[in-house]
Amino acid sequence: MPEYWDPEIETMPVEELRKLQEEKLKTLVHYVYEHSPFYRKKFDEHGVHPDDIRTLEDVRKLPFTFKQDLRDTYPTGMFCVPNSKLVRFHASSGTTGKPTVVGYTRNDINEWAESLARAFTSIGVGKEDVIQISYGYGLFTGGLGVHYATEKVGATVLPTSSGNTERQLELMRDLGSTVIACTPSYFSYMIEAARKEGFSIRDDTGMKIGIFGAEPWSEELRVRIEKESGIKAYDIYGTSELSGPLFTECKDQCGIHIWADKFLVEILDPETGEPVPDGETGELVITTLTKEALPLIRYKVLDLTRKLSEPCKCGRTHPRITRITGRVDDMLIIRGINVFPGQVESVLMKIPEVGNHFMIIVDRAGELDVMKVQIEMHESAFSDRMSDMMALEKKIAYALKAVLNLAVQVELVEHGFLPRSEGKSKKVIDNRKL
Ligand SMILES: [Zn+2]
Repeated sequence: MPEYWDPEIETMPVEELRKLQEEKLKTLVHYVYEHSPFYRKKFDEHGVHPDDIRTLEDVRKLPFTFKQDLRDTYPTGMFCVPNSKLVRFHASSGTTGKPTVVGYTRNDINEWAESLARAFTSIGVGKEDVIQISYGYGLFTGGLGVHYATEKVGATVLPTSSGNTERQLELMRDLGSTVIACTPSYFSYMIEAARKEGFSIRDDTGMKIGIFGAEPWSEELRVRIEKESGIKAYDIYGTSELSGPLFTECKDQCGIHIWADKFLVEILDPETGEPVPDGETGELVITTLTKEALPLIRYKVLDLTRKLSEPCKCGRTHPRITRITGRVDDMLIIRGINVFPGQVESVLMKIPEVGNHFMIIVDRAGELDVMKVQIEMHESAFSDRMSDMMALEKKIAYALKAVLNLAVQVELVEHGFLPRSEGKSKKVIDNRKL
């Protein structure tokens, strides 16, 4: 089992990496200026010319790109290549507006698979593995993204896509899947569904690695999943605008390595747009350094994270970001206080009597926002005694208040009460008419 997919690049001294980024950035700004009327206009309006970009720091002279830009130029107005150069489209679901369309050249597809092949190698996935891909295949980038990387590292693809849990579990056992890629909430559900069918993923399958993403999840949920299923659970990150899933943590599970020869990362203060010191939370902004069809300059991903600059034990020199604490879009403002569903999850997953599923419900009573959390009990924890339940509700409400600084109504519900998800799980119902 090789330790690195591309040792030379992955362990390149930081100074050399910076030089490489600088060269690629300079090439990139000329490329987009020449090939994308959208960027030419944006640069001109911003008063910046490609020749102004001489060092890596000069990236800050460039304008930001927003998701709205992709919507405004729907479907392909930002592309830098003619249709004849494209080999694939993906598109977002458009749940929060017009869909965004991403196009790929053959090289873009290769680069995407290469990124993830490095990541998979870093968590010990290789030729001997059978990877069950339970991300949706289709316009969503999860399924096909993981698929191409799996083939690249020479592992065997089991392309189950999402849904049909019974069949997923049957194939997992019969074909000896060793790795699963899906949302953490779906895997949680699989653990439970397996138990109902009378077997355990931990004891009765060869499953050893989970690659989980496409929704924010907490460290505490990781601890639970690893304990309940006996696998190592890794975070995977990427968004469709950047190609799809691109990066994972390495075996050390201490941050996600961002391949610096392909992507330039900035962590900025959302208010001022200035860089925050390493280790502080800010908004993730990414410039793609090698994409051909749809390169993005300073793209505002709208995810909040921290950059870790100390060297990683694995020997990779590429910068790491911490797991995404929340999408800016997911943030709830309740009585003036910012609340992320991930914070609620972190608190709940530390309480043993609590199951893996919860739902945040926000209402407005008169002038006041009211936040309620419906929480499923752990299978083993349901009590008939009213007093036990009330004591537990109180304990949870207290723990939530300590972290959120907000009084929360807690309602315990039976195990199995809340809907299960085969993809991205819904954790918030906001009934306020804002
Ligand atoms: Zn590492």
